[in-house]
Amino acid sequence: MKKGNNSTVKQVLFRNSILFSVMTILTLGILFSVRLYNQKLSDTKIILEEHNRSLNYFMDNFFRETKNTVSFLSNLHTVISAGNKSADGQAELVDFYKIMNKSNNYIAFLYSGYTDGTMLINGYDLPADYDPRIRPWYTSAIQTSPDISICEPYKDLLTGKWLASTSKTLFNEAGEITGVISMDYELELLNSLLKNKLSPFNTSYSFIFKEDGEIIIHHFNERLKLNLFDTVETLSPDVFNTDENFLEYSYNGKKKLGYYSKIADNGWVIATVVDRIEVLRPIIFRAGVTLLSILIFSLLWGYIQSIILGRRIVDPLLQLREHTEAIATGTSDYTDEQAFPDNEIGHIAEKIMQLASKELIKLSNTDMLTGINNRRNIENIIQKEFDRSQRYGCNLSVMLIDIDFFKNINDTLGHDAGDKALIEISDLFKKNIRQTDTIGRWGGEEFLVICPESNITGTLILAEKIRSLVKEHTFSINKEITVSIGLSERKDKQSIDELLKQADINLYKAKENGRNCIVSS
Ligand code: GH3
Ligand code: MG
Ligand code: MG
Repeated sequence: MKKGNNSTVKQVLFRNSILFSVMTILTLGILFSVRLYNQKLSDTKIILEEHNRSLNYFMDNFFRETKNTVSFLSNLHTVISAGNKSADGQAELVDFYKIMNKSNNYIAFLYSGYTDGTMLINGYDLPADYDPRIRPWYTSAIQTSPDISICEPYKDLLTGKWLASTSKTLFNEAGEITGVISMDYELELLNSLLKNKLSPFNTSYSFIFKEDGEIIIHHFNERLKLNLFDTVETLSPDVFNTDENFLEYSYNGKKKLGYYSKIADNGWVIATVVDRIEVLRPIIFRAGVTLLSILIFSLLWGYIQSIILGRRIVDPLLQLREHTEAIATGTSDYTDEQAFPDNEIGHIAEKIMQLASKELIKLSNTDMLTGINNRRNIENIIQKEFDRSQRYGCNLSVMLIDIDFFKNINDTLGHDAGDKALIEISDLFKKNIRQTDTIGRWGGEEFLVICPESNITGTLILAEKIRSLVKEHTFSINKEITVSIGLSERKDKQSIDELLKQADINLYKAKENGRNCIVSS
């Protein structure tokens, strides 16, 4: 039973230790993950910002360069007046466009259209009904004239490719518009730059939209012309009112993190975004691995701790409890051999045990009311004395003392008065028996006196002394008390039960004889 108890205590210790570890790990884990997440988030923002800024710088330069080229060309007389020229003169200009085109990778087409419908372009077969004046690049330039126009992307008629153009009106000396010079660049080219230029993450890409949300450069052509604020969730034009240039939105259920900046030259917005999960995944993995390793470590640690604590602390304390219980219930006496573990707690437990055992033994052997030996202890003593007298062949006498009509005292004066009388009479017995004799409470108002080395004659003298002392004694309850006594002496081959039985029979006889008397045999 004790073993079972011990292992339960250890299980509880182990469980609590694990519980504590798990709680600590969880708390630390959450704090750690949050810190890791915030750290990674701010790192990501910095990376996105840097990347976005470099793209912005590049785009700004790109548009500035195209503008400079277009502006330069629009001032050339040959370009301004080419509409009125001969076919040769026009062919010369087309050749010039061809050279320019070759010198700059970003130029897809260089061309000019004139008010009379003339169209000069290099390496492009125009449809028969082609009219430059209704093309977006032309109308856009007319609209923004005399400023340079950066035309929104449009699909080329022949190739089907998405193009964007920078165009400007041409003026003759009289200040009249003669046509429009335009330079086309393929969006694909810009997109490949936006997508690959120092791409910091696998899922990151950049795109350009106008402040009103219209997407104008995107590597997915189908998103061109769509409004960003309509196509994504949790993003509105209010984003431009915040101090931070960060973007956070969902597209097709995918959460995105991003950074935006405006291109100084044309006010377009360039956004660099990444799938949030790509940022989170390493954090989740790192936090998971760390937590798992700490968990395994603490399980082991908790297990070892519970074993160590179990051995060092719980075991000695449980042993102490076991021994004190055993002594208190009389199932065992304290002996020095009751070894406690050889450690601090074991030593303390042993000290406590030594100090407590004397008191415990005394308590467990004493009758609580009268302070004399209780039934259990007097039985032990008679057993020992009986064995000794048998072994050495010496005398042993016992006397059973019973208070006469004790019930009357209880009935007339109350139970407390009865208790008082029992205490007083016990004191009287204790004081008047010999040092070698032992007295104990045998039952309610019945006492056993063990008289070693005494024959029946000597014991009879003692019994008579006790009987008359009681009779003469003035009890505090103010009532005369008498006792009847039955004696017996150990005879050869007699058992302990027979010895006691004889005393009991004699006591009965004394009662029959009228009480306040002694019967011996
Ligand atoms: P007898 O002369 O035949 O022995 O009569 P008696 O009344 O002494 O004997 P009986 O066995 O009828 O009654 C004994 C009484 O002792 C009954 C019980 O209530 C009382 N008694 C036993 N133990 C205690 C105790 O601890 N305190 C008190 N106050 N009374 C007790
Ligand atoms: Mg009795
Ligand atoms: Mg009695």
